[in-house]
Amino acid sequence: MRPRSGLTVLGSTGSIGQQTLAVLAEQTDLFVYALTAHSQVDRLISQCEAVVPEVAVVSDPSHYAALAEGLKVRGLKTEARAGREALRSVAEADEVSHVMAAIVGGSGLEPTYAAAAAGKTVLLANKESLVMSGELFLSSIGRNGGEVIPVDSEHNAIFQCLGNSRAVGSTVAKLLLTGSGGPFLERPMDSFERITPAEACLHPNWSMGRKISVDSATMMNKGLELIEACFLFGVPSAKIDIVIHPQSVVHSMVAFEDGSVLAQMGQPDMRTPIASALAWPQRMTSGVAPLDFVSGLELSFRAPDHHRFPLLHLCRQIASEGQSAKVALNAANEVAVDAFLQERIRFTDIERVVKTTVDAMAIEELPSIEAVLSFDSRCRLEAQRQMTKCF
Ligand code: NAD
Ligand code: MG
Repeated sequence: MRPRSGLTVLGSTGSIGQQTLAVLAEQTDLFVYALTAHSQVDRLISQCEAVVPEVAVVSDPSHYAALAEGLKVRGLKTEARAGREALRSVAEADEVSHVMAAIVGGSGLEPTYAAAAAGKTVLLANKESLVMSGELFLSSIGRNGGEVIPVDSEHNAIFQCLGNSRAVGSTVAKLLLTGSGGPFLERPMDSFERITPAEACLHPNWSMGRKISVDSATMMNKGLELIEACFLFGVPSAKIDIVIHPQSVVHSMVAFEDGSVLAQMGQPDMRTPIASALAWPQRMTSGVAPLDFVSGLELSFRAPDHHRFPLLHLCRQIASEGQSAKVALNAANEVAVDAFLQERIRFTDIERVVKTTVDAMAIEELPSIEAVLSFDSRCRLEAQRQMTKCF
């Protein structure tokens, strides 16, 4: 029997975090060292009751007392910690071999980067952290003997098609990134201004957190994934095609120079890529039913419509620009999506805020994570300023 090694789940109370715990309940050699949440203390305590981690972290310190008291009342030996430093501590702890990076947005960068710097195997769902820091992150992984295994379903699919590897050899002609097109693939464009947060969060195939759901509705998600794929697989954006595939059964593909195309298929259920990443380089059960090919399964594909989804076009442009443009792109999107979810701006304003913020920010060299975080803060302020023009 292999030795059990520790897993920290950053963002365990979210969509990916909860599904990670569901997969772990199936079968695993890993033991859960730490769980973290931002403010959902009740859910975090319930998770602690189920898996009894050594540490539970709430990143918003104002919830520390509730967490500590809740764990005590239930007689759990789990230690309560709070704050950003505590988040880092559980990402780099000696007991930990694997870190599931499932915090949403730029808030995930510091602890995810800490895991990379500590030589951990990083199971990466938090695409924003890679978009913000690509080369710094991957060189830290390489320098410190860690690994990064993609959890995002498209990147996990490509990873599998490359033979459980991030190396794109000279025989690869293209990476084909599939995307469902989200809930507004067919909606008349003249009604986009009236889209509500509830409509934007109703994805036809996937059940996800609210931020990534809105990103899927604008197709910013596919744009972020394009940049994520460039970094993960070390290829220029010209080597990646985006293909609209409304059924979300083919999770992505690799086309080789001899005309062969390998696809990874499955149900649109994140437990499959999560299990694939957790068990890498082996496989494990995930609880996901196999695909049924003979009961009317239909697969269709088409080109993306950049007029309908201008953010996708912007992301393709920025994919070949420097790191600071990518930080600005991501920061402005997070600010704009948050404002849209709070009904402070319209759906169509998201693109406006992102584009004007990217245009307003001067290019900068970002040689360290501290420089990235400082530039990110300034981009967020600029995005707030741009938003005042939307009212
Ligand atoms: P979610 O909103 O459901 O969960 C987010 C988690 O992050 C929660 O545990 C929350 O407590 C924590 N968190 C939020 N703000 C935080 C902060 N400021 N500091 C520390 N922790 C904080 O999000 P999700 O849908 O699970 O997505 C998580 C990440 O995975 C995102 O980067 C997303 O793009 C990526 N991803 C998600 C899916 C999916 O199906 N949900 C698929 C592919 C990739
Ligand atoms: Mg994805």
